[in-house]
Amino acid sequence: MMPVDDHATAAGAGRIVFVGAGPGAADLLTVRGVDVLRRATCVVHDTLVPAAVLALAAATAERRCVTSATSADVDPGTATGLLLVELARRGGLVVRLKGGDPTVFARLAEELAPLRQAGIPFEIVPGVTAALAAAAAAAMPLTSRSSASSLTILTGHEADAKASAADFATIATLPGTLAVYMGVEQAPEWSRRLMEAGLSGDTPVTMVSRASWPDQRIGSTTLGRCADDIAGNGWQSPAVLIVEAGAVQAACGPLAGRRVVVTRPAGQGEDVASRVRAAGGGCIAVPLVEIAPPESCAALDEGMRHAATYDWIVFSSVNGVQAFVERLRSGRLDARALGTARIAAIGPTTRLALEAAGFVVDLAPTAFRSEGLVEAFAGVAPGTRFLVVRADQSRGVLQRDLRDRGHHVDEVVAYRSRPVTGLDAATWADLDRGVDWVTVTSPSIARAARQVFGDRLSGWRIASLSPVTTAALRDVGIEPTVEAAEATAAALVEAIVAHESRTIAPARTVPAPRHSAGR
Ligand code: SAH
Repeated sequence: MMPVDDHATAAGAGRIVFVGAGPGAADLLTVRGVDVLRRATCVVHDTLVPAAVLALAAATAERRCVTSATSADVDPGTATGLLLVELARRGGLVVRLKGGDPTVFARLAEELAPLRQAGIPFEIVPGVTAALAAAAAAAMPLTSRSSASSLTILTGHEADAKASAADFATIATLPGTLAVYMGVEQAPEWSRRLMEAGLSGDTPVTMVSRASWPDQRIGSTTLGRCADDIAGNGWQSPAVLIVEAGAVQAACGPLAGRRVVVTRPAGQGEDVASRVRAAGGGCIAVPLVEIAPPESCAALDEGMRHAATYDWIVFSSVNGVQAFVERLRSGRLDARALGTARIAAIGPTTRLALEAAGFVVDLAPTAFRSEGLVEAFAGVAPGTRFLVVRADQSRGVLQRDLRDRGHHVDEVVAYRSRPVTGLDAATWADLDRGVDWVTVTSPSIARAARQVFGDRLSGWRIASLSPVTTAALRDVGIEPTVEAAEATAAALVEAIVAHESRTIAPARTVPAPRHSAGR
């Protein structure tokens, strides 16, 4: 990495470094950006830059916020450029921190002109621009070999104005994806102009607001409906609208026109959602349980301290792995704390999570439920010591059976899974536009689905992840339409696709979308 030189220049002036602050989350800054910020003597920023990013600058650095125009006749970019010249002349390292990337819709040319004129040296450190953060949040490719060979970044703000505004007629012919910035207020204009230029009203649109912030929101709609959806569902700036102008193929997949509710906890539904989208379906994210730390971490910490005294440590879910690893790290421990204990994982995704965290998994039964693990341990000598890492409400089949076989079993609660109690009006409005499937991926989600959706469930098809989930669904009076062949997101979506292919008449090779708001 080329370090940024913060020494004063020959002319005596300081240096200016433009740093891309990224979309919001402080840990999306580049390493170079953080390094420069830490050494800054002055930070000039706008309101889009979150406090957590500003906090990375040295406490002693002067902070200046420059969003509002200083005077009606001076362009705000030029005004900031003039301010930067003045600050640079005082010496030191002046960081111009800009949301996203400094080169995208950031008045960079206007800010640079005064610097160039005054001969002040500058450098630009890139940042993650909003479109890329939005695409990552929604787990959607911006280009695809089959349907999107270009990416256009455009502003929706000028859709109704001036000659220099984007040429929508040309843009609509591009075989790719459009990322519309500043598009919330003028959605009626730009969407209308794209449709006038020939794009179908059914073109899929994904909206991502406040990408990477804790209150990030993702929704799917169509070009024809996006203006109404934005107004009706209270979507607010900052948001990027990703228009899949080239996505005709995707819209013709086996789930075209189907709307699938993904109920996993926030941030964990993408493995299901991305597969639904890949099959041409639309997703409605409705997390039905929230993952929370246990009431007390004392037992977990105790288990960790004595981890090396166990023969086996058993993990039953990805959440358990994540909570365990986070706690291990916060205690400044790593895999050495486990000594020679062997590791068992229930289910393939639990195994993957352990492997991703750097652990070798010694045992992962092919049956994806606690019973599978019980059988896998059938030959283990009595008196073996087990530590089971679990959620607050777990079934305990494994623990009971191991104890019955004369083993010593300790259990630690690594996380709590709490059902949500209700949904906001925007989510209900989204559901009211039509639901074809609800994916149910755990017993606690099954119970929460009954509680939250009530009788509406009878009109929707239900896809269950596993026999355990199916049993929990039946306990609350819901009969699943399909059950995944194994407890993975891929198998769950395959089961839905298989059901759709059986129920769609073979002659209907290019199904028309059934819901105008879906895809
Ligand atoms: N330089 C910035 C863009 C500034 S223009 C960048 O590279 O991202 C402001 C627009 O950026 C907003 O209207 C919105 O369209 C988009 N934007 C910025 N941060 C965003 C975020 N966290 N999530 C979604 N959109 C965002």
